[in-house]
Amino acid sequence: MKCLKCDSSDDKVIDSRSSKDGHGIKRRRECLDCGHRYSTYEEVMNNEIKVVKKDGTRDDFKREKLRDGINKACWKRPISLDDIDKITNKLIKSIEDDFDGEISTSEIGNRVMRALKELDEVAYVRFASVYRQFKDIEEFIEEIKTLGLK
Ligand SMILES: [Zn+2]
Repeated sequence: MKCLKCDSSDDKVIDSRSSKDGHGIKRRRECLDCGHRYSTYEEVMNNEIKVVKKDGTRDDFKREKLRDGINKACWKRPISLDDIDKITNKLIKSIEDDFDGEISTSEIGNRVMRALKELDEVAYVRFASVYRQFKDIEEFIEEIKTLGLK
């Protein structure tokens, strides 16, 4: 942080407090060169990840969509909703850790397949055989829906 008065970048934080909603921190700082006091506000960034589809278009990365795909693959399998939530959370965390900004639908698909493979063979095969043939995860979800209704 540079002091507005003297342009020095030496400052010390003299007070920090959370914002009312808890998503930000307000810091009171003092310039070590000229003594000028000022405040800064830091906000938690919402790292929105975009999904790049095979046709090059982008869509928001949605937890629900991912969960839905996994849920459909696990249809009638001995897998609890709790397990599905756990895999979903794990996948999202790994995606957020490894990707900053964009991820392709095929990369998401590969990760889901890997996760399902460890969990349940039938769910894995179901996901893999269906997912690979479709342009994106939405088409896949639609297909799984029709399978589920038989
Ligand atoms: Zn200063």
